[in-house]
Amino acid sequence: MDDVLLQMAGVGFSYPKQQPALQEIHIDLPIGSYLMITGPSGAGKTTLLRLMALALRPSVGEVRMMECAPWTLPYPKRAQMRQRIGFVFQDLRLIDHLTIMENVSLPLTLTRRLTKQVTAQVADLLEWVGLGEKLETRPLHLSDGEKQRVALARAVIARPVLLLADEPAGRLGQEYEHRAHQLLHVLHQNGTTIVHATHNTHVLRRHDGPVCSLKAGRMTWHRVA
Ligand code: ADP
Repeated sequence: MDDVLLQMAGVGFSYPKQQPALQEIHIDLPIGSYLMITGPSGAGKTTLLRLMALALRPSVGEVRMMECAPWTLPYPKRAQMRQRIGFVFQDLRLIDHLTIMENVSLPLTLTRRLTKQVTAQVADLLEWVGLGEKLETRPLHLSDGEKQRVALARAVIARPVLLLADEPAGRLGQEYEHRAHQLLHVLHQNGTTIVHATHNTHVLRRHDGPVCSLKAGRMTWHRVA
């Protein structure tokens, strides 16, 4: 199965002293696919994305990524795998004492030196998401929508192998919502595998790839890859 990027087999997850947040999750995510996940609030979407991000270890079942079992690897190896994953989570996780230019450059500085060319690339992307005037601003001085655009730019700048996006356009106005979806589309066209959780019925209707929905931690497929 060399065309599978991420595999989840019988995965379940429970937070301490809680009912299971996820049960019996089976996913084979092909390289280059674009999976939409939907479901009501509390259904387990964020937990599923965090398992895919290798930020949570499954309570039962197995997660395999890039033909490895990441939870059997030593931490530095798992951390290296995580560097190839981009995330846009609901709680954005911007670093408050860094400028937005520095926040977005972070994934690149982990792997390369910040050359003039790289800096120009970051500035271009920030310009494209409408933040060209705010390169030196810190997150505390941005609106929620602007912060979400920074988080999106940071998630895509290093052209991740896998992008995990949790309602990535939820706080954006119409213009930037469109740009955010364009950005995901371009990334996908260039080979990134995408998992995108959303409630947005317009976005789901337009999507012609696989869709699964979660309800009380259990998954059903609407459309399979
Ligand atoms: P969704 O993203 O679909 O809204 P979540 O994955 O955030 O769903 O939550 C799934 C379930 O796990 C919910 O019942 C939620 O209350 C619970 N949950 C989420 N995060 C935590 C946490 N850190 N500690 C305990 N329970 C949690």
